Amino acid sequence: MAMITVHCPECGSQNVVKNGKQSNGKPRFRCDNPDCKRRYFQTTYTHKGRQPEVKRQILEMTLNGAGIRDTSRVLGVGRNTITREIKKHRNLTGESSTSG
Ligand SMILES: [Zn+2]
Repeated sequence: MAMITVHCPECGSQNVVKNGKQSNGKPRFRCDNPDCKRRYFQTTYTHKGRQPEVKRQILEMTLNGAGIRDTSRVLGVGRNTITREIKKHRNLTGESSTSG
């Protein structure tokens, strides 16, 4: 049985504790970071764009020259989500693009 490292979706901390199951059978976790606003979370999401890991991948792909369509297809997130993330960190890319 493989160990899966679980990160808190709010603060990214690995200091999380498994905390039983939800009524739908999915495992639930508790974040032990005292500075974290979020206490409980689960590892499955309906919106992939909300995951910090995905946001990081969006930026990485963008910095490596991938287009929005490529990033959208590879990561499985919407183009609007990608555009939003890029705009937030546009100073990192060093260029402004108006194409969509
Ligand atoms: Zn947390």
